Amino acid sequence: MFYETAAPVNLRKPMEKFFQSVWGQEPAVNALSRNFSRNRVASAYLFSGPEGTGKMSTALIFAKMLLCEKPGSHDCACRSCRMFAAGAHPDFMGVVPSEPKSKVSEDRLRDVIRNPAMMGKTPKGRSIKIEQIRGLISALSLKSSNGGRKVALIESAETMNRNAENALLKTLEEPAPDTVALLITSKPTGLLPTTVSRCRTVRFVPLQPQKLAVLLEKHADLPSGEALRIAILAEGRPGAALGAGMEHAREVDDEAVHILSRIAELEPEDIIQWAEKWRQRRGDLKLLLERMMEIIRSGIDATPASSSDTMKSIFKDLDGLPAGRLVDGYFALLDVIPMLEFNPNVQLFLESTVFNLQSILLKGESFVD
Ligand SMILES: [Zn+2]
Repeated sequence: MFYETAAPVNLRKPMEKFFQSVWGQEPAVNALSRNFSRNRVASAYLFSGPEGTGKMSTALIFAKMLLCEKPGSHDCACRSCRMFAAGAHPDFMGVVPSEPKSKVSEDRLRDVIRNPAMMGKTPKGRSIKIEQIRGLISALSLKSSNGGRKVALIESAETMNRNAENALLKTLEEPAPDTVALLITSKPTGLLPTTVSRCRTVRFVPLQPQKLAVLLEKHADLPSGEALRIAILAEGRPGAALGAGMEHAREVDDEAVHILSRIAELEPEDIIQWAEKWRQRRGDLKLLLERMMEIIRSGIDATPASSSDTMKSIFKDLDGLPAGRLVDGYFALLDVIPMLEFNPNVQLFLESTVFNLQSILLKGESFVD
């Protein structure tokens, strides 16, 4: 590891502009810009962080920058940038987890992806095979089209099987000049420590929900309450906030708000009916209970959960609800969520969870130990 001296800001700032479409991630973007502007680009990077935090978008921008013939303008139209945008760059090579060997020919496995737009989107297989890494290594060994760099981008690098990773390791140990490998992973512990140590790690972190909400308001044109709710549901990950699963998460969140807002008036038969309905949606139960828990928690410390007024409207009938009861309600859910997957009788589990929660919130009494 080496330590860098203070950054020459005038050189770095234009580089950061390249990354303006990346939301948050200033430390990552600054580090890459600094490496680039000082000609200290490493031969391998590991982009590490949870799904949806911008690893792939950042890697693609960095790859374009590394291949650009006259870097300096983020809307460059040099030959390389045009080829990159057109989806066929001879010096760009991507690898994604592939289907089982029984379904794909060896030749096809050895083909690297030349279209950057295919990265992060292609339906994924389970693992990266040795044939794919061999294909990548042989593509990397060819001369670059314009005497510049070559960039290899490996998506879900932790899915490399052992042989594939060992083959890549040799390349990482003795990188060819002007080649840059970008490994992307949300599970760095799935890689060999030797692989990790050969790469310069760039970390990606979820944004503060409030910060993501501001970006969603501005760029996704969402009203502020809804933007904050989505930012919280997405756990601060822009990719999740803008992803296809969000509509579904919002619907489950609505249901969590709905049941809590009626908790004071629920009759036993309502609870049984509710449990019957949710028994059918087993895949959503964990999210539902977590959302209920989160909404209750937001009442304890007044952190805005769904929207800033949700708590007030939810518990309007429970005026003066002691914070201690909210704490007990929170823990009642926290305790049962892990039991969900081991519970054969989901109906009974849901009924007792809601009966108990109701008893805690209304009477301050738990009937479950
Ligand atoms: Zn260019």
